[in-house]
Formats: sequence, structure tokens, C-alpha cells
Amino acid sequence: MHSGQEVKFLCDQNLGRLAKWLRLMGFDTMYMHLWDDDMVKNALSSHRVVLTRAHNKELTDGYMVIRDDKINLQLKQVINALDLKGKAKPFSRCSICNEPLYPIGREEAKGYVPEYVFLTHDTFSKCPKCLRIYWRGTHMTRALDMINTLGIR
Ligand SMILES: [Zn+2]
Repeated sequence: MHSGQEVKFLCDQNLGRLAKWLRLMGFDTMYMHLWDDDMVKNALSSHRVVLTRAHNKELTDGYMVIRDDKINLQLKQVINALDLKGKAKPFSRCSICNEPLYPIGREEAKGYVPEYVFLTHDTFSKCPKCLRIYWRGTHMTRALDMINTLGIR
């Protein structure tokens, strides 16, 4: 890992949930539905950490084998191993597409989020790819709880 460089990930097919959580915490995280040697090779050459559940791979630098099944323990392993405490940027990346979100005005969100959400929130962000609108609702609260529990912000 090069210092000053933002940490990026590629999750293997067994780590979809982990990929989603890493994105919720703002980390650039790609995901492969099937093991893809080319994707892995590209990831490694661009200093993207390859997270995998596979124990039978010839593991070299750049791979991390995730030991646990539980999502909080998986996150904890990654955070601790790469010293990511304080580096989470929640509410900054789409959990589905991995695209950075951009802030939108309240008026732009009107009609695209539930009425009660519109009435009770001031801050909205949008994914440029899937156009999904994010707000600090229950989903985000859960992410923030997780971040606080793990002490990574
Ligand atoms: Zn998206």
C-alpha cells in the first residue's frame, strides 16, 4: 500500500455484502460475480486490494483472505489490517454502483423520495449512474452505527 493513496478494493463473488458495506463507508470497491483472472490482474496492478474467501489461491501481495462469515467481523478485519480507522466517508458513494455521489438540492429530490423523507430531510445525494437518491435515513443510520461500533471514523 502506498501512503497517501486512497485504498481501493475488489471483492470476490463470496463477498457481495462486504462490498456493499465498504461502499456505504465511502471506499472504492469493485465486485466480481465470478472469479475473473483478468479483473484480478488489473486490480492488483492498480493497487486495488483483492478481498477473497478463497483459501486455495496462490496468495501473493495484494490479496487479503477474509476469515469470517459475519459482516461486522469481515469489516473489522479489513479496517484493522489496512489501518483504515478515521478514513470512512459515509454517504459519499453508491452502494450498488460504486459511483461517487453528488449532492443535490432539496427541490431536485422532490417527487423522487417518499413524502415524509422529503419533509424531514435537508440533505440529499444522487448517484450519476443509477440515479438513486440517498439521504441520511435508516440505511445510513445503520451504516453510521456500524462505523461508530468499529471506531473507523
Ligand atoms: Zn448507483
